[in-house]
Amino acid sequence: MKRIAIIGGGLSGTAAAWQLARDGQSEFVLYEASSRLGGIVETARVETEDGRFIIECGPDAWVTEKPWARELAIELGLESEIIASNDAMRRTYILRDGRLIPIPDGMRMMVPTQWASIEESPLFSEEARLAYRNEFQNAESLRQSALKEDVDESVASFVRRHFGEEVTHTLAGPLLAGIFGGDVERLSVRAVMPAFVKMEREHGSLIAALQRKQAAQTQSPAVFTTLKGGLQTLVERMQTALPSHAVRLQHSVHAITRRSGQWELEAQGTRENFDAIIVATPPHVTRQLLRALHEDIATFLEMESTSAIVVALAFSKEQSRGLTIPSGFGYLVPPSSTSEDIGNPQLLACTFVDQKYEHRAPKGTVLLRAFFGGSAAKALMGDADGRLIALARQRLAEALVPLPEPAVSLVRRWPLSLPQYAVGHVRRIERLEELVQTMSGLHLVGNAYHGVGLPDMVRQGRDAARKAVQTA
Ligand SMILES: Cc1cc2nc3c(=O)[nH]c(=O)nc-3n(C[C@H](O)[C@H](O)[C@H](O)COP(=O)(O)OP(=O)(O)OC[C@H]3O[C@@H](n4cnc5c(N)ncnc54)[C@H](O)[C@@H]3O)c2cc1C
Repeated sequence: MKRIAIIGGGLSGTAAAWQLARDGQSEFVLYEASSRLGGIVETARVETEDGRFIIECGPDAWVTEKPWARELAIELGLESEIIASNDAMRRTYILRDGRLIPIPDGMRMMVPTQWASIEESPLFSEEARLAYRNEFQNAESLRQSALKEDVDESVASFVRRHFGEEVTHTLAGPLLAGIFGGDVERLSVRAVMPAFVKMEREHGSLIAALQRKQAAQTQSPAVFTTLKGGLQTLVERMQTALPSHAVRLQHSVHAITRRSGQWELEAQGTRENFDAIIVATPPHVTRQLLRALHEDIATFLEMESTSAIVVALAFSKEQSRGLTIPSGFGYLVPPSSTSEDIGNPQLLACTFVDQKYEHRAPKGTVLLRAFFGGSAAKALMGDADGRLIALARQRLAEALVPLPEPAVSLVRRWPLSLPQYAVGHVRRIERLEELVQTMSGLHLVGNAYHGVGLPDMVRQGRDAARKAVQTA
C-alpha cells in the first residue's frame, strides 16, 4: 500500500485524512502540531444555569453557495444538524461616527439589487447614489474597458471604477476586511471576487448583471449554513472515522527531505518515509518546510498573513433583559486609515450570534462575538485575556449599550491565520502549482491558494487525497 503523510490537521488536512480513510487504498499518518484537530475550526460548548452556549472560536458558518462542506456533513451523517442562518433577521450595520447604520436590503456585497433601498438609505450621500445610477447607465463602456483575462487589479480599484470612492470606503472596505482580514487597496479582485470580474466582462454593469441573475432565480437560499452543535462537529465526526494510530497529535513536523523518490519527515525526534505528502499547514509554515527542497516554491509562498482575535461575551437571561441590541446579524467597522487609531485599537466587526443562528444561545440570552483584525489584532496579540475582554466590552458599549460583566467570556487568538491574496495572486499560485507538479508526490492544500472558506478547505483536502493515491 502507498504511504501518505498529511502535515497539519486543520479542516483541509483532516478532510484529506478522512478521504484517505474512506477510500482505504493507502496507509496514512496525520501529523498535527497542537493537541487537537480542527485548526481554526473550534467550538466551545459552555453549560450555564440558563442552558448551553455554543461558542464558535473561529469560523461560525460556511457560505451556502459552495456545496462541499454541506456534502461532507451529509456523508458524515450530519444532515439533521445542518441549519441555515436566520435570514428573516438578516441585517448588517455599518458603524459610522458612533452610530449603527443598516446596510440597505438587497445588497450583494456592495452591489444593490433594489433601487428603492439605495435611494432611502442614510448610509449613502447623494454623490454615492449618483455613482450607483451611473454604473447602471454606463454598462456598455464598463464592458468595453472590463478587466482582460490575466490582468489583475486591487479590489479598491475595481470597486472605485464602478461605484466611486465612498462605496469603496464605506462598504467594500469593511465587507472584505470582515472576510479576508485584509486591505481592499491590496487584495486581488481576480482572487477574491472572481464572480464580479466575470459579470463585468459579460455585462459591464454589476447592477445590471445581478438584476438579470435575480430575475432568473426563483428563491434564494439562506446565505450561511452551519451545524447546530457547532462546526467542530464536522471535525469530530471525521476524527472518529480515522484509525487512532494514524493520528499523531502534538507532532510538529520540522523537516522534510526528498530521498530516492521518497519523502522523509522528521517530527518529535522520529523519521518516517512516505510515497506522497499533503502539506496542509499555514503558508508561513509550508514555506519554512519546503525551503530546503525548492527555493522557488518557498519564494512563491512568501505571502503576508493577517491575524485575528475573537472575544465572545455571553450574558445570562437576567442580564439580557436589560440589553437592547439592534435586530440583525451584527455590524462592521470601516477600517480607518488615520494614525489616530494607533494605540486606540478598534474592532473589525461584531456578530449578534443569538440572532444570527438558532441553537447557539439559550432563549432570552445574548451572545456577542467581537473581532479584532489587521493592525489592531497585531498590536493586541500579546495582551492578557482580561485586557482584551475589557477592551472589546468598551468598544461594544460605544456602539451598542453599556454591557455588564458577562456571564461567560472567551478569547481566541489566531496569529497569521488569514493569508492575503494580493494583486497577482491567481498568477502566482498558477506558477507555484507548475513547480509543485514537478515534484512527484507533493500536494499543497489550505487557505493560501484557492479560497479561505470552509467549503474550499473540504474540497481541496479531499481532492488532494484522491490525487495523492493516484500519483504517489
Ligand atoms: C477568526 C476567523 C473567522 C473565520 N470565519 C470564517 C467563517 O465564518 N466561514 C468560513 O468559511 N471561513 C472562515 N474563516 C476562514 C477559515 O476558518 C480558515 O481559512 C480555515 O479554517 C483554514 O483551514 P486550514 O486547514 O487551511 O488551516 P488551519 O485551520 O490554520 O490548520 C492548520 C493546522 O496546521 C497545524 N500545524 C502548523 N504547523 C505544523 C507543523 N509544523 N506540523 C504539523 N502541524 C502543523 C496547526 O496546528 C493547524 O492545526 C475564518 C478565519 C478566522 C481566523
